[in-house]
Amino acid sequence: MRAVVVGGGIGGLVTALALRRVGVEVRVFEQAAVVGTAGAGIQLAPNATRILASLGLLGSVRQVAVAPTSFEFRRWDDGRLLSATPLGPAVLSAYGAPYLHVHRGDLVALLAGAVPVEAGARCVDVSPDGEVVLADGRRERADLVVGADGIHSVVRRSILGAADARFTGHVAYRGLIPADRVAGLPVARTATVRMGPGRHCVHYFVSSGRLLNVVCVVEESRWTRESWTDVGDPLEVRAAFAGWDPVVSALAGALSAPLKWALFDREPIPRWSKDAVTLLGDACHPMLPYGAQGAAQAIEDAFVLAACVADSSDVPAALARYEALRHDRTARVQDLSRGNATRFHLPDGPAQQARDTAIASTNGLSADLDWLYGFDPLTGRA
Ligand SMILES: Cc1cc2nc3c(=O)[nH]c(=O)nc-3n(C[C@H](O)[C@H](O)[C@H](O)COP(=O)(O)OP(=O)(O)OC[C@H]3O[C@@H](n4cnc5c(N)ncnc54)[C@H](O)[C@@H]3O)c2cc1C
Repeated sequence: MRAVVVGGGIGGLVTALALRRVGVEVRVFEQAAVVGTAGAGIQLAPNATRILASLGLLGSVRQVAVAPTSFEFRRWDDGRLLSATPLGPAVLSAYGAPYLHVHRGDLVALLAGAVPVEAGARCVDVSPDGEVVLADGRRERADLVVGADGIHSVVRRSILGAADARFTGHVAYRGLIPADRVAGLPVARTATVRMGPGRHCVHYFVSSGRLLNVVCVVEESRWTRESWTDVGDPLEVRAAFAGWDPVVSALAGALSAPLKWALFDREPIPRWSKDAVTLLGDACHPMLPYGAQGAAQAIEDAFVLAACVADSSDVPAALARYEALRHDRTARVQDLSRGNATRFHLPDGPAQQARDTAIASTNGLSADLDWLYGFDPLTGRA
């Protein structure tokens, strides 16, 4: 079988590796001239690292990753700890795989070293029978075409029609701060979410601990284009977090050239395949980053797709099974992420107090996480 994967992000590259392991000949077309240097921090929960381990990639991922000790929620004004979920040995023993933080660029570079990628190859159209049209006029035909081309997917538009992604009213200012510049601050090797009225701040270390990934999310009514490279105004970030715990003010102040990332999403869709063509990752189920599962769900998709293709050489039948195995799971994680958009930004008051009480009661590694981290994507069981 010959396959074309459109998009050389995390989803596309893991798909290519997984398909090659089951004997499929794969080509990857990536629009960027240079593969995957952009981006900042990505969280890889054990449901993703277990799959990376099965593909023989976990050892090299660990070399560029940071293993956080815990996942913390803190209050916005005084930094008070609301809950801490252990993520180190506890996660390893509960779920058989580690929780890791990586720089997206490090992970993409590592994956691209394991599978050939044709860079500077922008797809402009795909037909359901498996013909891929590139911007330079080339036409390539494959038995299977996988659209792993992100939230504004051209492959999705080609097989399902045009529908714009929705601006969520949230904008993230992001940056990577060298670890020595935050050495005086009480920021540990944790995944920390600091929640406050209408805003939140997330930070964790990446790149073997050399860089602190900081994401400051605010609500804005204005529509902004979705881009990974727009630069925001550092004064706006500082002003937005004025009056917060001094640690947050210091982190916001250290973002000297923050990247401004307007957050978009889409509703779950019932089907995302047509004949020889399917979608994967953000192309079919984009989600807000508030469940830290965007990359993980794309990795699960890749694993399941390869298993379905290995089981059946009838491509439409394999794609129908892939969709059936992935639909409810990804819709549930999309829902979790969207729900956190409201939960994280509650104004101080009764609803916030109820949230904080609920969070405190799940202190520790709770079985509530089994559905997410202990999930077997082939059986659908935790
Ligand atoms: C540049 C970039 C930076 C990111 N940085 C972060 C981050 O810091 N933190 C975070 O949580 N998430 C980040 N994300 C999103 C995160 O990577 C995804 O949510 C998650 O990994 C799922 O990935 P995906 O492979 O489905 O899609 P994506 O990661 O969006 O990858 C899609 C790939 O397809 C390529 N592509 C798009 N259109 C075409 C086309 N027409 N022809 C060929 N190739 C095409 C894109 O260039 C990209 O490489 C980033 C995404 C991108 C594209």
